[in-house]
Amino acid sequence: VKIVALCGGVGGSKLITGLHLEFPDDTLAVIVNTADDVILHGLNISPDLDTVMYTLAGSSNPNTGWGLEGDTFHGLEMMRTYGHDAWFKIGDRDMVTHLLRTAQLAAGGTLTSVTADLAQRLGVGRTILPMTNDRVVTRVRTRGGWLDFQDYFVRRGHTDRPLAVEHVGAAQASPTPQVLDAIAEAGIIVAAPSNPVVSIGPILTIPRMLDAIRDAPAPTVAVSPIIGSRSVTGPADALMQAVGFEPTVAGLAEMYKPWLDTLVVDSRDINRAGEIESLGLISKATDTLMPDVAAKRRLARFVVEAAR
Ligand code: GDP
Ligand code: CA
Repeated sequence: VKIVALCGGVGGSKLITGLHLEFPDDTLAVIVNTADDVILHGLNISPDLDTVMYTLAGSSNPNTGWGLEGDTFHGLEMMRTYGHDAWFKIGDRDMVTHLLRTAQLAAGGTLTSVTADLAQRLGVGRTILPMTNDRVVTRVRTRGGWLDFQDYFVRRGHTDRPLAVEHVGAAQASPTPQVLDAIAEAGIIVAAPSNPVVSIGPILTIPRMLDAIRDAPAPTVAVSPIIGSRSVTGPADALMQAVGFEPTVAGLAEMYKPWLDTLVVDSRDINRAGEIESLGLISKATDTLMPDVAAKRRLARFVVEAAR
């Protein structure tokens, strides 16, 4: 089976690990959000692409989910010595990824080709596809005005109440041919439990992406990152409210119903199954927390079987 997954960063990568380990003989292509990419210190940083890449390379930091295991931060200290406000945590080895990406993009490479090259060098045997080669930037409006996504998320630690979200450049962006081919040829399309507003949202906002998924013969299945009325981690709940959806699996079903067949929710939300099914979706409940590899594999198997 050809598994195609839509993914953001740390949360989604937990399920990607499960799919990777549980289905070694199937193809796996991951379409990754790039709307929280940022240029800092002259470096092109793609946080979600790198999280997926390090995860599939088996070298991600198990404590944080982002960055490289055992990385050091001397480079950031040097940035501070030079008087730079180094609020975005970049490890020393991680910095080399950004350096090479920046150099290869400057030499005319596309984000798709650069990502493929970096991933292959790291020994990744799976396909990692940026959603687009064009520049898309998520911004969050707060009481103080519009903030670039990493400013809101990392620098200010998502402490501001989000009031609105936009993806600047999305309307002019195109999905890559590689992304469109993967979707058309997919045997199953899985939306990982990534942030619906700022990880899965930007992917679907790109013109033609939604139609490509709707036109694809593959069944679609999503895992909820929301349990009860809270995100498992991070500000997905507040961001869903900011864009007009209830931060529950019912709200998520409302948000995803234009393209989704099956929603996998946590067992604690089994009482919302009726609402989900009244929207025309199939609801499947299981334990959706992924604290360890066994849980990631078990959920990955459940998701693929739920879609069939
Ligand atoms: P980011 O780009 O690094 O913020 O990561 P993602 O967008 O891929 O994932 C963030 C989402 O993952 C959050 O909304 C969390 O609620 C969700 N999440 C994190 N861990 C888990 C888990 O173990 N199970 C489920 N179902 N969701 C999770
Ligand atoms: Ca992200």
